[in-house]
Amino acid sequence: MAPFHTRFAPSPTGPLHRGHIYAAQVAHHFARYSGGKFTLRIDDIDHTRCRDQFVNGIYDDLRWLGLTWDGSVPFQTKRLAAYQAALKTLQKLDLVYPCFLSRKELADILTAPHGHPAPASIRDTDKLLPHNEQQRRAATGTAAAWRLRMDKAQQSAATRLSWHDYLTGSHRITPEIFGDAVIARGDIGVSYHLAVVVDDALDHISLVTRGIDLAPSTHLHRLLQALLGLPAPDYLHHELVCDAAGKRLAKRDDAESIAQLRDKGLDQNDLLATLPALPALPRSALS
Ligand code: GLU
Repeated sequence: MAPFHTRFAPSPTGPLHRGHIYAAQVAHHFARYSGGKFTLRIDDIDHTRCRDQFVNGIYDDLRWLGLTWDGSVPFQTKRLAAYQAALKTLQKLDLVYPCFLSRKELADILTAPHGHPAPASIRDTDKLLPHNEQQRRAATGTAAAWRLRMDKAQQSAATRLSWHDYLTGSHRITPEIFGDAVIARGDIGVSYHLAVVVDDALDHISLVTRGIDLAPSTHLHRLLQALLGLPAPDYLHHELVCDAAGKRLAKRDDAESIAQLRDKGLDQNDLLATLPALPALPRSALS
């Protein structure tokens, strides 16, 4: 088996909970099991929501659990130039366009009041606002978001792109589920989708392990990798950790943090015993 280079890439917007630890444990396991490398990356691109105290909490929690990482820790906020270069590549290929509409304006145009437009229905939003109004907004300092022109992007990528998941096999990409996805937000100049494909390439990640909730995003990531000429890693989308009621743990629901569990006297083994079993690779991956 080739050594896997995996990563755990938390956003320091709150304390880690057991769901994060399972994600870290899966990534760490496949790196160590294959004699590869495990990178810890701090996904702090949305600097409006990230806090240093949570970065320190991530280090403390991983160290406490013995989930040691290799090499230095990359921070997304140190890579803005690389994201801008990727955006520029897409601009030169004429595969992205500026969108000056706010979310609310888009929702008002595309749906009944208070509804949310289905992502797949968000297309050619530059044609929804008169050209002179776009120019006026640009001149008065409105930062446009950049959207991928999905039809054109799919046509320009090599045909029949797919991605491989070690648990569920090969998937032909269907990035049209995202419509003209936002590739760079107006406020921070980049999006998760653009940053993650650039980061995984810069970090030489060969196996992306992450929760199954992110599997749809992989369709878009694979397309971006092809458009930007980046290598395509393999994937393993694992199950999510749920609470006693079967609901997925989430920071926004104040899931109990690792620090709180530690303060209550739980030890490392007790905590790891509450997590799902690690996924097993199919035989074909082991030869
Ligand atoms: N920072 C992202 C998150 O915490 C990482 C997602 C990924 O693994 O690609 O959801």
